[in-house]
Amino acid sequence: MTLLQSIPKVDKVLNWPEIEAVRSLYPRAVLLKAVRTVLDRLRDELRRGNAGPWEVTAQCLAPRILAELAAATGYGLRRVVNGTGIIIHTNLGRAPLPDAARRRLNDIAGSYSNLEYDLERGERGGRGSHLEEILCRLTGAEAALVVNNNAAAVLLALSSLAAGREVLVSRGELVEIGGSFRIPDVMRQSGALLREVGTTNRTHPHDYRTAVAQDTALLLKVHASNFGLVGFTAEVSVRELVAIGREYSVPVMADAGSGTLLPLRELAGIDEPAIRDYIGTGIDLVTFSGDKLLGGAQAGILVGRKKYLEPMKRHPLARALRIDKLTLAALEATLRIYCDERRAVAEIPVLRMLTESAAAVAARARALAKRLRRVIPADAAISLVKGFSQAGGGACPLLELPTTLLAVTKEGVSPVRLEESLRNRDVPVIGRISREQFLLDARTIQDDDLPHLVAAFGSLPSGGEVKKG
Ligand SMILES: *Cc1c(COP(=O)(O)O)cnc(C)c1O
Repeated sequence: MTLLQSIPKVDKVLNWPEIEAVRSLYPRAVLLKAVRTVLDRLRDELRRGNAGPWEVTAQCLAPRILAELAAATGYGLRRVVNGTGIIIHTNLGRAPLPDAARRRLNDIAGSYSNLEYDLERGERGGRGSHLEEILCRLTGAEAALVVNNNAAAVLLALSSLAAGREVLVSRGELVEIGGSFRIPDVMRQSGALLREVGTTNRTHPHDYRTAVAQDTALLLKVHASNFGLVGFTAEVSVRELVAIGREYSVPVMADAGSGTLLPLRELAGIDEPAIRDYIGTGIDLVTFSGDKLLGGAQAGILVGRKKYLEPMKRHPLARALRIDKLTLAALEATLRIYCDERRAVAEIPVLRMLTESAAAVAARARALAKRLRRVIPADAAISLVKGFSQAGGGACPLLELPTTLLAVTKEGVSPVRLEESLRNRDVPVIGRISREQFLLDARTIQDDDLPHLVAAFGSLPSGGEVKKG
């Protein structure tokens, strides 16, 4: 009998004790669909000669059926353990919120709020009013506006300031951020006309000067975010660009990308100017994200001169791109923490992870390994290896933060299977494979991930070859 022929009938699977035990928990149709899905997948894998970790046994298939049932009936959006070492991991939800923001969400979410109500006057107010003052205080700007994300902020700014007119951008700054945010595309969408200046590796002040014309609406500087230019390069600084803008009476804007509110150079040796430094150059407008280095909720923040921001607040796009009360609650709480720099570094998870010393990460990794070794089976092992974490999220692409990783192995279980089984849990544990080892970076593992890790490591998959039916 071939492996294919040995695939059990659906009825037989339904009578396996593991499946029998959960039969009353699910509608029959859902149960049948889950069983069929897993058997079909098995059949496909066998046909492709790709049995890999699959076995035609209840021991191998029942857990997959249960996982399929959980996936079909459980939440789509779930908490995961980030063991990748990428701090601002866009695929994993970017910034985990600080406790204070979580508490605010809890307070605001289930009740009415003064979202657009002026409590002093007892009449309609603006939702933007809640964040403007604190953003101005933290950045030194005259005015501020918050929209759905930074892509939206750039779109709104270009639509409001430059529709039908030219925007000058250095060829070295025509970036693609990923997830389809490309400067030329956003520009087209806004109705602004892109005018490229300079070359890919070198752009000089005179490139802007010779390109400025009657029709120039804006000089735009874009943060390189996810790549570095090295070698024979030249770029025009924000300060120089502001001077050129003044010379020709053309406004200057920077898409700062990630954007930070702290002097990261002093705090963490990270070469990223604070938004306050941008504003200090006299620039007219800066946009940045709320959930990258800032460490708060997804949002796009615009700060700068009132005379440019006031019309944007009334632009029809502003209504379409506005934030909801949950974002507002989380962002306000996060921004408040910044009023005390030391508190920000201690309480905002992104900043805590970014500034944690290699020695502190190593100590956490040792404690974590010790705890997990108590629950793993005898044929599994956890060792500690040195490596590097990354900021991620298009912030500081060249930064390598020394870290300690847990390297996990188990006899008879390939790293691929180990990775898959940890990823397929109720609370998935996401790591990576390198040199035949499954690796978890201690830097991005949070204290409250521990119970989930203990549960996951207490039930690592069992070893063994593909068994014949
Ligand atoms: C990340 C990034 C964006 C997009 O920001 P979102 O908040 O993800 O919309 C835009 N521009 C730059 C330079 C970025 O780094």
